[in-house]
Amino acid sequence: MSVFAHPEFDHHEAVVYCHDARSGLRGIIAVHDTHLGKALGGCRMWPYPGEAEALTDVLRLARGMTYKAALADLPQGGGKSVIIGDPRADKTPDLIRAMGRAIDRLGGVYVVAEDSGTSVQDMRLMAEVTSHVGGLADAAAQAAGRTGDPSPATAFGVFVGIQAAVRFQLGREDLSGVRVAVQGLGNVGYRLCRHLSEAGARLWVTDLYAPAVERCVRQFNATAVGMDQIAALDVDVYAPCALGAVLNDRTIPQIRARVVAGAANNQLSEPRHDRALQERGILYAPDYCINAGGIIDIYYEGPDYDAAVVDRHLRRIGTTLTAIFERARDQGRPTGEIADRMAEERFRPS
Ligand code: NAD
Repeated sequence: MSVFAHPEFDHHEAVVYCHDARSGLRGIIAVHDTHLGKALGGCRMWPYPGEAEALTDVLRLARGMTYKAALADLPQGGGKSVIIGDPRADKTPDLIRAMGRAIDRLGGVYVVAEDSGTSVQDMRLMAEVTSHVGGLADAAAQAAGRTGDPSPATAFGVFVGIQAAVRFQLGREDLSGVRVAVQGLGNVGYRLCRHLSEAGARLWVTDLYAPAVERCVRQFNATAVGMDQIAALDVDVYAPCALGAVLNDRTIPQIRARVVAGAANNQLSEPRHDRALQERGILYAPDYCINAGGIIDIYYEGPDYDAAVVDRHLRRIGTTLTAIFERARDQGRPTGEIADRMAEERFRPS
């Protein structure tokens, strides 16, 4: 299977296949770029149909982490790892430790954290065999109220990003009375609703899990709407916080919000949808910039964890987004494209 000729290959510094016969581990680690620092990225466990799909995913995700860390102003590079297997059926402590040993053999160029299919508990197992693990929530972080779950920081970062987008696009200094449609009320979406509600925003919400909707209606006086209605509501902000590819040929013509800003990864169905939003006068907050709160939080983990420092860094998501918005306006380019250029300026040596 060719790596150098792979469509997702983008000058990745290393792609390492890992195997452990005893535990059945089959995994791949991809280090995309380490110009800014060690490559940080989650370990995803997924029942990939085969090796080809796993390679495509790990190459794409590792590259995304480089861009994300650079725009988040972190001295870190981008990497990712994948384990081929069903986390419910195939995951064992031995297999997770075997992956930890494979990561350890890279000597610290790649630092692992949790991702889909892996948990804080799995990170603790890996930490038995390697020190190159993030997302553990050690004693200092726990004392500051952290559990290793990145969602609270992600939600706060998205909230700050929405404030910046509303200020830029609507000229509003606060969110009082601003109408926000939140799609997906899970770990991030629910906490985002709480921040928005406390800031005086009015909420419209949807989720495929009815109790999540009822909780937001009850706690935040939100209005429940159907899942197929959320993108087309007459609101100021549409905040996708569920799944990817929600900005597509079908939804974009329906969107009435002037701001799209939410936590979901890969919101644009295709890269061209960035321009489609711009042409409709909709301000899009690039997803990997606005949802970087989790990796910012993980970066500060350690004995010196200081919630006030993390909070200040999270607020810089708003500053970065404003710089993207201004440059996109001045150059007449879509915001996603500008975000990519800004990230590359940071991590590519000139
Ligand atoms: P989650 O699984 O806790 O919540 C997702 C919610 O979306 C669930 O309640 C689910 O029922 C709901 N949902 C699924 N399909 C839906 C649909 N079609 N319409 C409406 N609701 C639907 O996930 P999360 O941790 O809250 O993350 C939300 C998004 O943000 C994901 O795309 C994730 O990749 C991204 N993200 C999360 C973090 C983080 O720190 N958790 C960081 C960066 C990006």
